[in-house]
Amino acid sequence: MAHILPPAMLGILGGGQLGRMFAMAARSMGYRVTVLDPDVQSPAGSVADRHIRAAYDDEGALEDLASGCAAVTTEFENVPADSLRFLESRTRVSPSSACVAIAQDRILEKRYIAGAGLAVAPFLAVDAPQDLAGDLAPLLPGILKTARFGYDGKGQVRVATPEDVHGAFEALGCRPCVLEKRLDLETEISVIVARTSAELVRTFPVAENRHEAGILDVSIVPARVTPDIAARACEMACALAEAMDYIGVLAVEFFVLEEGGLVINEIAPRPHNSGHYTLDACAVSQFGQQVRTLCGLPPADTRLLSPVVMVNLLGDIWRDDEPAWDLVLSEPAAVLHLYGKASARAGRKMGHFNVLAETVDAALEKAEALKRALRR
Ligand code: ADP
Ligand code: MG
Repeated sequence: MAHILPPAMLGILGGGQLGRMFAMAARSMGYRVTVLDPDVQSPAGSVADRHIRAAYDDEGALEDLASGCAAVTTEFENVPADSLRFLESRTRVSPSSACVAIAQDRILEKRYIAGAGLAVAPFLAVDAPQDLAGDLAPLLPGILKTARFGYDGKGQVRVATPEDVHGAFEALGCRPCVLEKRLDLETEISVIVARTSAELVRTFPVAENRHEAGILDVSIVPARVTPDIAARACEMACALAEAMDYIGVLAVEFFVLEEGGLVINEIAPRPHNSGHYTLDACAVSQFGQQVRTLCGLPPADTRLLSPVVMVNLLGDIWRDDEPAWDLVLSEPAAVLHLYGKASARAGRKMGHFNVLAETVDAALEKAEALKRALRR
């Protein structure tokens, strides 16, 4: 595959924080960037060379994007598959529409992962009430999750009895769902893979992820798991990328089970919140890898240069005023990243900071102290 080199124009569907960090990485390498996003105030639009303000299924806008860009990627999985296919017929697109289609639907995703011989939580695909007619006991207590458009714990209901499951299915609008067995988790980890071809694949170091109210709160790197678990997670992530013939950056979330097993929870066909630590703790960030894989270039060295803890900044800490950024900016070990979003809402991802230290314990201690201070 020919390399796409600066100052080529690269396109991205979606103008949120992931698109913004892609645009910043691309521009720092000398590429130019066009963002397609309907939002006038999109975080990526304000740092891109060009912002096409249109819907993701606007054919004229997609034509414009394809004709102006040497390659196009996406920052979110809920792009209409038809839009990606349309772009694919006109320019280079990665990840492929086929890969995005798998990642955007929990039923396809779980079937695909299991079909590749990799472990997932026991589950049942639920398209209609009659799918719930059998014995549900082996999957209870469980979680009913909508097959599409779920994120940050949205579109999920915890269920303990078959009656709960029926009620939850109705409450979720009788949309296609998966009923998943609730597993006892030791911890959660994730692996970001960058893959240009079968020969050119690299994983970033494993991140240990803590959630609060269904939203990622903190990522700790290196993850405090055994070397065996870390190695297996990287192998499974690579095996999945290989099975999908995935080109681009793929995020793989795992459950580490109390009994010692490792199962894949879900995947994202793009950089991931749990990979934001790479911005400051690795020679190349996950966004730099997204640019490189999109351009047919080999992924760069992913070595961890320092233990690091990433803390998400949600809209909750905005009161009448901006949070006291002085607290973070006065700390030499911390690096602040804000996404330039106009309005803060509870649960909205507004930014994050990374704390680097000699040890992961020291980084965690400093990160927790800053987090507490900001919440005051
Ligand atoms: P989202 O798309 O919202 O990230 P996930 O499927 O990753 O959805 O679920 C969000 C969180 O809920 C997980 O990170 C985990 O903490 C918890 N969770 C989800 N499924 C299970 C499960 N089967 N067993 C135990 N915990 C789960
Ligand atoms: Mg998740």
